[in-house]
Amino acid sequence: MITFNHVTKSYSQGTKAVDSISFEIKKGEFFVLIGPSGCGKTTSLKMINRLIPLSDGTIYINGKRISDYEVNELRWNIGYVLQQIALFPHMTIEENIAVVPEMKGWSAEKIKTRVTELLEMVGLDPDTYRNRKPSQLSGGEQQRVGVIRALAADPDIILMDEPFSALDPISREKLQDDIIHLQKTIRKTIVFVTHDMQEAIKLADRICLMKDGKIVQLGTPEEIMNHP
Ligand code: ADP
Ligand code: ADP
Repeated sequence: MITFNHVTKSYSQGTKAVDSISFEIKKGEFFVLIGPSGCGKTTSLKMINRLIPLSDGTIYINGKRISDYEVNELRWNIGYVLQQIALFPHMTIEENIAVVPEMKGWSAEKIKTRVTELLEMVGLDPDTYRNRKPSQLSGGEQQRVGVIRALAADPDIILMDEPFSALDPISREKLQDDIIHLQKTIRKTIVFVTHDMQEAIKLADRICLMKDGKIVQLGTPEEIMNHP
């Protein structure tokens, strides 16, 4: 589904943020990138949807180089969830979720149905939440909306960059449980960045441990725990 082939990223000063990494993420896999701050996790993630260009190597999605996709085609197929709550404050929850479906030209009726379904998926009552503004939601609720917004137009891939790390421990645990439940239903290919090993072990099908732009270990949570 997603293949990294000797991918390298050097920023202008010459530091190699990512240093010739190769791996393959399977369809429907929950893949967690973990490692200390500055090891290249966010850089790896942002290269997948071409938010930043590669310096060397190739990334393939479904066997096709990402550089050969039209950029909108690529990004519409990739949902992106950030750490910072990134909802548009002046828009309602429904309008926030509808951004990409609208760009794709969905009908108002189809969008409404989809918003209802998505809110229900994460336990937010559609009648209550649809017309609220983001400021009327708790941090955990806003981040739930961030997740379903990324899912709105049914992309194949979801990128998540420390999506729960700004939350208090209780909301965080609840969101982790939600995402496990959600993944059982939707089976997306998820690339999830965290620096929290407990979170990685809880969520991942496979964990990719990075350090200084390189892969140190790659395996299932069991394999990673048994070979520390
Ligand atoms: P992580 O997500 O693991 O914390 P990043 O991918 O953000 O790591 O960063 C990897 C390395 O690249 C770090 O040394 C960071 O300082 C550097 N870096 C990240 N973004 C830039 C940038 N825009 N310009 C220069 N260096 C950067
Ligand atoms: P994110 O919020 O996606 O994790 P980072 O924390 O890595 O992003 O970086 C925040 C901003 O600072 C980004 O715009 C990134 O490009 C920039 N940045 C990060 N590290 C460096 C660096 N060493 N030199 C210059 N810019 C950097």
